[in-house]
Amino acid sequence: SMASPALLMRVVASAYSVAEKAAKIVRNVMSAGDLGIVEKAGPNDLQTKADRLVQMSICASLARKFPKVTIIGEEELPTDDVTEDLIEDGHCEEILKKPCPAQYTGIKEEELVIWVDPLDGTKEYTEGLLDHVTVLIGIAYGGKAIAGVINQPYYNYEAGANAVLGRTIWGVLGMGAFGFQLTEAPAGKHIVITTRSHSSALVNECITALNPDAVIRVGGAGNKIIQLIEGKASAYVFASPGCKKWDTCAPEAILHAVGGKITDIRGNPFQYNKEVKHMNSAGVLATLRNYDYYASRIPNTVKESLVP
Ligand code: AMP
Ligand code: MG
Ligand code: MG
Repeated sequence: SMASPALLMRVVASAYSVAEKAAKIVRNVMSAGDLGIVEKAGPNDLQTKADRLVQMSICASLARKFPKVTIIGEEELPTDDVTEDLIEDGHCEEILKKPCPAQYTGIKEEELVIWVDPLDGTKEYTEGLLDHVTVLIGIAYGGKAIAGVINQPYYNYEAGANAVLGRTIWGVLGMGAFGFQLTEAPAGKHIVITTRSHSSALVNECITALNPDAVIRVGGAGNKIIQLIEGKASAYVFASPGCKKWDTCAPEAILHAVGGKITDIRGNPFQYNKEVKHMNSAGVLATLRNYDYYASRIPNTVKESLVP
């Protein structure tokens, strides 16, 4: 039909291009060599020049196109005097051509909340673990994560000069997720993936109780969800506060779009309305398959230590 595309698809199509621009900024800051590291809450809570520039780029670009949408980004920075070179006004044509799921065709701008993590895995970025880094743009409606874009700026960076560097994964509930090869984790193996730089006694107690065959410790919430949907790990387990709504919104939409499940460690779903508190105080439990296996083995003592 000649009808103009639904708002949700226009937002996702723009977020795709905005995330690709963000990835270029992330790579440019690293190759220029001056990361401009600032400690926020402490030495394990960092902000770099890339976090700052990407936050401004994403928030200003989306706000210009969708002025009534609520945009909540991790970094507290002004978005008014953003320079033109940071603005992306393009969109992905292929996404615009796809039909919007029927339940989302009537959404209005003021009903959307966009959660932005300009650079997830900052600690690892500063340490040169570049493929841990992602750019996260999550889209929520009615308090639910319904669409998301994850850009991995350094995907393939160790695959040689002929490999294409970087990729963009996107998804919409009721439509699916694209830009990667959905893969199941090895059957009958329990591979837990968790934090690398934010461990604690409780984080480790919880993992030990699951008696896993292997534990993978890597940075980034986005990175860990990618590893779930590509079959590298069977459960993302993080029994700690510290993860925020901008860390989980885009990953949640993509994981749910392919039939996975993410909750806090006690089994409660996350809410993404604009008034919600930012901290995911009761931790994270996510799987592509067999959610109940892991949820049923989280010790009560761990659950009781984490207050939502
Ligand atoms: P990680 O798995 O350690 O990369 O954490 C996933 C996301 O949650 C990242 O954005 C971290 O910065 C954030 N995060 C987790 N724990 C903490 C913490 N203790 N302090 C600050 N940020 C945290
Ligand atoms: Mg993050
Ligand atoms: Mg971040």
